[in-house]
Amino acid sequence: MKEDMKFNTLAIHGGQEPDKAYGAVMPPIYQTSTYAQTSPGRHKGYEYSRSGNPTRHALEQALASIEKGSFGMAFASGLAAMDAVIKLLGPGDEVIATHDLYGGSYRLFRKVFEPLGIRFRFTDMRSVEGVAALIGQNTRLIWVETPTNPMMNIVDIRALAALAKTHGVLLAVDNTFATPYLQQPLQLGADIVMHSATKYLGGHSDVVAGALAVRDPDLAQRLYFIQNASGAVCGPMDSFLVLRGIKTLAVRMQRHCENGEAIARHLREHPAVEAVFWPGFEDHPNHQVAASQMKGFGAMISFRPKGARYADAVRFVESLQVFTLAESLGGVESLAGHPASMTHASIPKAEREKSGVTDALIRLSVGIEDIDDLKADLDRALDGLGG
Ligand SMILES: *Cc1c(COP(=O)(O)O)cnc(C)c1O
Repeated sequence: MKEDMKFNTLAIHGGQEPDKAYGAVMPPIYQTSTYAQTSPGRHKGYEYSRSGNPTRHALEQALASIEKGSFGMAFASGLAAMDAVIKLLGPGDEVIATHDLYGGSYRLFRKVFEPLGIRFRFTDMRSVEGVAALIGQNTRLIWVETPTNPMMNIVDIRALAALAKTHGVLLAVDNTFATPYLQQPLQLGADIVMHSATKYLGGHSDVVAGALAVRDPDLAQRLYFIQNASGAVCGPMDSFLVLRGIKTLAVRMQRHCENGEAIARHLREHPAVEAVFWPGFEDHPNHQVAASQMKGFGAMISFRPKGARYADAVRFVESLQVFTLAESLGGVESLAGHPASMTHASIPKAEREKSGVTDALIRLSVGIEDIDDLKADLDRALDGLGG
């Protein structure tokens, strides 16, 4: 398969060849821990499944292909993939990270790695000058999330890649929200792209997995070493599920984007809605940056009903019938969440309100159901608030 083919083709064929044993068109699930050797050290390329497994290998090739990388790595979860990246560093090293980071990423940085001597500085990355001002002698990595959760802020990947390069610092981008269908950070100059494959790559809310893709062979070798040495690998069955998800990523994302835009515009025109956050709006503060680095604006939306308090927002999400009240995102089914009581409950109220996560904020992961049913569900729940 030629890697210069277009995304829709790569999502299905990228890095994939029919199975060598019997020509199976779908990569078989090699549910095995070990592999027979004919003589000590003589085998067919695999010796132990932590170090390598053909199903995981197929997924890793596909990940590299759709992210326009040269090397892919599949992990047991998104956080396991991040954990491997931070293990490139040592005590005294510093990381600069997006301030409104996914809560689990923040916890991994502050509660696991900070006590081990790695320092994290959090900043609003919409200001590239602000990031530049934090770079010091010990800075090794810039960790970016864009769009951010749940405020849908956009960070300029190209500008930060240029900055990172000048200072000899690595740039990693959490591409979970955008997916490679909409945004390809390695093409924009990033060194590492990371995914919670649990979300859009898997796409069906039936697997927890993580991914990395890189271009530099030395960086890849160091990450493969950590993946094998630390051992948080993606299992064969989970690898198969993510691979299957990736095959429909392009068509799912097309519909996610259509539905996302329709819901964002519908909510914005609704008299009971105060504000809607979605990077596709022409007057979103970072719309130009979003348009320059994304092929579409996705289906993650947050909004505030007019005059709503904590209890109203809770009543709203409870009364939805098509949208499911749940954590997570990126599946074919629509989900709704209340960040103040769910994903962001552990952040002190004053702090979360500073970044816009007020008591009334509601986050939607718009799925690929019929748009009329989704609109009707939101309208019904908004009516229930009694205006
Ligand atoms: C879910 C998520 C993660 C963590 O991934 P897991 O697969 O749950 O470990 C990291 N970043 C973002 C943006 C996420 O949405």
